[in-house]
Amino acid sequence: MATLSQPEPPATKSGSQTIQIEDVHKYYELGETRVHALRGVTVSIRQGEFVAIMGASGSGKSTFMNILGCLDKPSSGRYLLDGVAVSDLSKKELAAIRNRKIGFVFQGFNLLSRTTALENVELPTLYARVSKEEGRKRAEEALHLVGLGDRMLHFPSQLSGGQQQRVAIARALVNRPTILLADEPTGNLDSRTSVEIMEVFQKLNDDSLTIVLVTHEPDVAQFARRGIHFRDGKIRRDETVTSRPRAAEVLKNMPALED
Ligand code: ADP
Ligand code: MG
Repeated sequence: MATLSQPEPPATKSGSQTIQIEDVHKYYELGETRVHALRGVTVSIRQGEFVAIMGASGSGKSTFMNILGCLDKPSSGRYLLDGVAVSDLSKKELAAIRNRKIGFVFQGFNLLSRTTALENVELPTLYARVSKEEGRKRAEEALHLVGLGDRMLHFPSQLSGGQQQRVAIARALVNRPTILLADEPTGNLDSRTSVEIMEVFQKLNDDSLTIVLVTHEPDVAQFARRGIHFRDGKIRRDETVTSRPRAAEVLKNMPALED
């Protein structure tokens, strides 16, 4: 896989605290009832970490990711992103930070079906301050980076699930975020394809991209460097992954799927 040319210098130097979450609570009001989705979460994530978020359905993982990604704000508590208190910002300011710093990957690939892989990846550059030529160049670079240099003109229906997710990863990277957030990115993929996606993530993390990934599969989580376990809206365990396998090595010993 090719290497993306270096992104603009990150706002923080390597090893500093990119994400600081302090006693964050989140309530959802549903008519008369109130759901307490996060119940006092405190955690720091440094530049260059690769974190797997685990926990049962309903434990607050997606709520946490939405806050990390500036898609939603805490009901109380503080969130500092590269030293900026995003919990105090307006919706417009949040959107600006999100576009500049954060890339998202979801379980469903959310690609536009009538446009090519290249056009799908190019799309976010139309909203960034780059020329059309620069946007095209970045999109091509991002597709090379995820190993799809030879599939740029294919439509989503002409790509496998794993390839579609790679397109979605390229799209998430095209504006050169400092953080990649992925909520169950392998949820729709078979086990070999899941490891292939983790190979891409490990490669990106080697190039110092900060990655936070939600998964309920231990087989997927083992490729991260750190595991954070949620239960009932709280962090119950936070541990370093020891003897982390390299996805590229694991793939060598996995049989290719027969059609
Ligand atoms: P997970 O991703 O771990 O499955 P979520 O963060 O989606 O958990 O949900 C945590 C809790 O918050 C659950 O009880 C869920 O039903 C509730 N919840 C999530 N999103 C909303 C919402 N938009 N409105 C109301 N309740 C919500
Ligand atoms: Mg979820």
